Amino acid sequence: ASRLDAVEQAPPDPILGVSEAFKKDTSPDKLNLGVGAYRTEELQPYVLKVVRKAEERMLAKDENKEYLPIEGLASFRQATVELLLGADSPAIQEGRVAVLQSLSGTGSLRVGAEFIAKFMPGTVAYISRPTWGNHKNIFADAGVEWREYSYFDPESIGLDFEGMLADLQAAPDGSVVLLHGCAHNPTGVDPTKEQWARIADVLQAKGHLPFFDVAYQGFATGSLEEDAFAPRYFVERGLEFAVAQSYSKNLGLYAERVGAMSFVLSEAGAAQRVLSQMKRIARAIYSNPPVHGARIVAEVVGSEEMFGEWKGEMEMMAGRIKGVRQDLYDALVEINPDKDWSFVLKQIGMFTFTGMTPQQCDNMTNKWHVYMTKDGRLSLAGLSSAKAAYLARAIDDSVR
Ligand code: PLP
Repeated sequence: ASRLDAVEQAPPDPILGVSEAFKKDTSPDKLNLGVGAYRTEELQPYVLKVVRKAEERMLAKDENKEYLPIEGLASFRQATVELLLGADSPAIQEGRVAVLQSLSGTGSLRVGAEFIAKFMPGTVAYISRPTWGNHKNIFADAGVEWREYSYFDPESIGLDFEGMLADLQAAPDGSVVLLHGCAHNPTGVDPTKEQWARIADVLQAKGHLPFFDVAYQGFATGSLEEDAFAPRYFVERGLEFAVAQSYSKNLGLYAERVGAMSFVLSEAGAAQRVLSQMKRIARAIYSNPPVHGARIVAEVVGSEEMFGEWKGEMEMMAGRIKGVRQDLYDALVEINPDKDWSFVLKQIGMFTFTGMTPQQCDNMTNKWHVYMTKDGRLSLAGLSSAKAAYLARAIDDSVR
């Protein structure tokens, strides 16, 4: 007997647990459309060529493995905030951004949530319904109460914009509002530029603190700049905000855990103090961030030639996903022309949000060997053109 016999088995993770089940399936037809990770047309993981090139240059430099400062690699932090806001952003030039290199999107969100728990006690975080499954865990484990705001309208398979604004209006003044910077996960539905303006009006009027989660910069439109519209616009509007960034998807650095947690504030002094407190939080969790991925980012963004190559590969990845999105749509229309499948084309980013029930998702997996999350989300980044017709048959069979 163990003293820990009372510890119960935790349930598998709703997203990463899907990959574990996929590995055990021996069917040749099996498809892993659970996790949002880019695959090639051959359904193999992809290391960006520009990443390999950066790594070769790094190896040649023979750099050491000393600890980074708690706040991370200076050139990485600079590159990362410039990627988000643009190098000429007044917020950067006036030194009003506190940037902490952290453990990819998740670790950055967690540091942000810990900061809110510590310095904005009692503040509620509002998250979209639905959202990425881990948001709730992150805020709850940091001790921040979360509630949901309306986001998705299943009727139109679009944004429930009026519902969203009404919920943000009804939230207590000074709440935290988590927003997906672009390519909303899981719905693939983003506000338009005009809608962002009205969202900003409400946030400003209510004194809410926007907290952007930017995990897919480049995957909405294929352009890193275009996809940074919302945070750049918020700077223009004079809003203070928090933002978590990740290089998992756009630079394919999933396992390197590279990202940043930043606060864009109205004064340089506040930014300095906030950074000092984020460092205290990070110090007690993981001390300082890993160096390898940060050096890759600094190499790529620091060379005009490699930055250009990255943009090219980003467009290629986003383009392949758009291509299989179209293939899937065409195959669905061919199988069942009477049904409206237009949502597949309307949604953007890595996913398609099908509206399937958990039972229908079970049919996808048990009968068709298609692995997906139970919220009806399919990662098109894991689909090939060759398998699009098979997936269409599985979907059509499951929703009948
Ligand atoms: N935020 C969203 C919306 C995501 O979809 C993801 C990954 O799937 C993340 C954050 C964080 O990913 P990572 O911790 O790998 O950067």
